[in-house]
Amino acid sequence: MRAFRRFTVRPVLPEALAALSELAGNLRWSWHPETQDVFAAVDPDLWESTGRDPVGLLGAVGRERLEELAADQSFLDHLAAAHADLQRYLTGDRWYQRRLASGVAGPRAIGYFSPEFGITAVLPQYSGGLGILAGDHLKAASDLGVPIVGVGLLYRHGYFKQSLSREGWQQETYPVLDPDGLPISLLREENGAGALITIALPDGPELLARIWVASVGRVPLLMLDTDVEGNPDHYREVTDRLYGGTSEHRLRQELLLGVGGVRALRAYSRITGHPAPDVFHTNEGHAGFLGLERIRELTVAEGGPRLDFETALEVGRASTVFTTHTPVPAGIDRFPRTLVEQYFSGVGPTPGVPVERILALGAEDYEGGDPAVFNMAVMGFRLAQRANGVSQLHGHVSRDMFQGLWPAFDEAEVPIGSITNGVHAPTWVAREMFDLAAGQGVDKESDDVDAFWDVVDKVPGTDVWATKRVLREKLVVDARRRLRRSWEKRGAARAELSWIDHALDPDVLTIGFARRAASYKRLTLMMRDPERLKSLLLHPERPVQLVIAGKAHPADDGGKKLIQDIVRLSDDPEIRHRIVYLPNYDIAMAQPLYPGCDVWLNNPLRPYEACGTSGMKAALNGGLNLSILDGWWDEWYDGSNGWAIPTADGVDDVDHRDDLEAAALYDLIENDVAPRFYDVDGDGVPTRWLEMTRHTLKSLGPKVLATRMVRDYVRQLYAPAAVTAHALNSDYAGAATLAAWKKRVKGGWPSVRVEHVESSGVADAPEVGDTMSVRAFVCLGDLTPDDVDVQLVHGRSTGEDQLVDTGIESLHVAESYEAGRHRFDGTLALDRSGSFGYTVRIIPRNDLLASPAELGIVALP
Ligand SMILES: *Cc1c(COP(=O)(O)O)cnc(C)c1O
Repeated sequence: MRAFRRFTVRPVLPEALAALSELAGNLRWSWHPETQDVFAAVDPDLWESTGRDPVGLLGAVGRERLEELAADQSFLDHLAAAHADLQRYLTGDRWYQRRLASGVAGPRAIGYFSPEFGITAVLPQYSGGLGILAGDHLKAASDLGVPIVGVGLLYRHGYFKQSLSREGWQQETYPVLDPDGLPISLLREENGAGALITIALPDGPELLARIWVASVGRVPLLMLDTDVEGNPDHYREVTDRLYGGTSEHRLRQELLLGVGGVRALRAYSRITGHPAPDVFHTNEGHAGFLGLERIRELTVAEGGPRLDFETALEVGRASTVFTTHTPVPAGIDRFPRTLVEQYFSGVGPTPGVPVERILALGAEDYEGGDPAVFNMAVMGFRLAQRANGVSQLHGHVSRDMFQGLWPAFDEAEVPIGSITNGVHAPTWVAREMFDLAAGQGVDKESDDVDAFWDVVDKVPGTDVWATKRVLREKLVVDARRRLRRSWEKRGAARAELSWIDHALDPDVLTIGFARRAASYKRLTLMMRDPERLKSLLLHPERPVQLVIAGKAHPADDGGKKLIQDIVRLSDDPEIRHRIVYLPNYDIAMAQPLYPGCDVWLNNPLRPYEACGTSGMKAALNGGLNLSILDGWWDEWYDGSNGWAIPTADGVDDVDHRDDLEAAALYDLIENDVAPRFYDVDGDGVPTRWLEMTRHTLKSLGPKVLATRMVRDYVRQLYAPAAVTAHALNSDYAGAATLAAWKKRVKGGWPSVRVEHVESSGVADAPEVGDTMSVRAFVCLGDLTPDDVDVQLVHGRSTGEDQLVDTGIESLHVAESYEAGRHRFDGTLALDRSGSFGYTVRIIPRNDLLASPAELGIVALP
């Protein structure tokens, strides 16, 4: 029988155990094994059977046991220590506070908007990489004391759970999540009523949403939920699931996230007194509507400053950071323009903000653009003064992909930088690995992460190898359990499943491969030549085993077919003990998977992997990467911290390319990876392998951390954004002046010209050490020399007269003539030999611009 309605009754804990609900109410437990120990001590069996879910555990444990614990002094001491530790973690000064104390300016608060957050398996509000990254961003911000407030949605069904049919076809189910059973609490007004925000939608009543708060260590995460009384049914469904439904459904979700998210932040500040963010971070285009709501607040809202649109745009841009995450053009979030027009006409979600201005912000009004679409990434760039991709290679690809927005500039000057992603070590590194470092005297709670890398060489090889064996075995046990469950669901009888007791082997070289079944990730590349694969799996002395996982998007039959191909292969009785596909890849599976693997395989089609983070998690657990040089690996592979699978770049025939790259992969495994793994010394330790492990930890460890990533965001984006924002916003005069200046410069630009350039000082045969003098005669029309930078751009000159490896020198104004004409002078020392070229250009100059390309205009001879 189906329940008509369900809810979760929260337990009443004895007074002495009150701290337990505080520990359960802060998600820091999810990356703090010592706190998990406290929950395990409450009832070890229930702890496992509830899937290590503190809220579930406390709801299930009986009164009698609670009373017993309340009288158990050693448990109470344990609890008190964990509670005191949490209080210290939440209130002490950390990196960010020390930075402020040393006089470096930074934001009061940062609103971080993301459509998904992957924090723990018991809060399943993520589908994959983007969500896990957002979760790691919040956790690292918490560890560093960075004042972020997360903003997202609470999806009633989260993302789907994956299982397999008998034939190996992906099956999806959408379990219902009861918010009362989740580690979140409702934001309430002083009178106890749930706080609500509203958004006007066309042809209907206002959409209502309540606000849940998850505590991610020191970081609050606000999650909007439309499943509330007062909403008609089709509004309640707005937050039904992640990435499902029609364009219109997605548009409503994104309006809720962006516009509703800003309103939720305002409600949160009003109720709790939390500082209002002075920097906003849009994690991927989906959250971009937040910029429109901020313009509404600044232009038309009751009680707001009533700025004009241009001034408000400057205020918003100065304080907004936009991160783009996909190098796949088809992955860019776009809506039919007419749909956006329909939603923002009339009263709309941001009443008073002119619809034609909104449409212009998302318009692909550049060469090759589609006039019928509204592009969320394009709007993201226009609403944010600072933007980045998520690895150096992805930065390049993004600058290239969006160059149409700044057509006058070369790729290198397109104002999209990069900050390479990172992973949250306390979440992803096995406790056993931390214990190895602790055995050398490293304090796990200390801020000094360098201490970890310093002891890597000190831990004896026999200890490292024994630990890896333990972790491999844990993975094998977990994989067998999952395989058995999967086969039972696929309809197998128990008697057929005895082989599972021998599936995988804790002493065999284990290769992991887990990721979404998006086509560019090439899930099935490894089975390009099934016979060759088989011979690697079944090698008499040096076998390998493969653990594979990953979901396909429910609408992606191509991806499901790839999964089916892998599943069918792994069903083959001859090899099924050496290759397994585990359904329902999620955080719970991932946590034992990375530490249990010796090698992490990644073979995307370059350059479609923006960054990738799973290989980083493997590396921190002493795994070695075997990967195509894409995303982060392109940047940090150094020749001896793993293996690069050679890419057949430039081979246009995709089948042929896949053949070549698969053959290279087999060769590497057969000739390099497996021989090194099985080459053991008298103690059974593969010393050459461990050399690579140690080198991996030392070379990659410091780089792949999410704390490194969040520090980079603070230094390169958040703090500069806060400085510009404060300069513009304290009384808005700065923003109005900047907006007026931009208007004047754009208006006067048609008269700006480089009229004539003279050089002297270089003879017929110039030599290194010569100094060249340059005089540029320019016309600035009504603009003044202060409005512009007249630059000498020099570099190597290619056959096509393109300048590469360029350097830039600003020229100074030497003489002014009538009619807006000026002479600018400068000199340049020729310091390298070879082909040389230069030109002079004029660009707008203002200290408040974040990039010379910001206005997208330039004048060349
Ligand atoms: C790390 C992780 C991802 C993202 O991995 P990529 O390398 O970016 O594909 C996806 N899902 C889970 C469960 C993860 O832990």
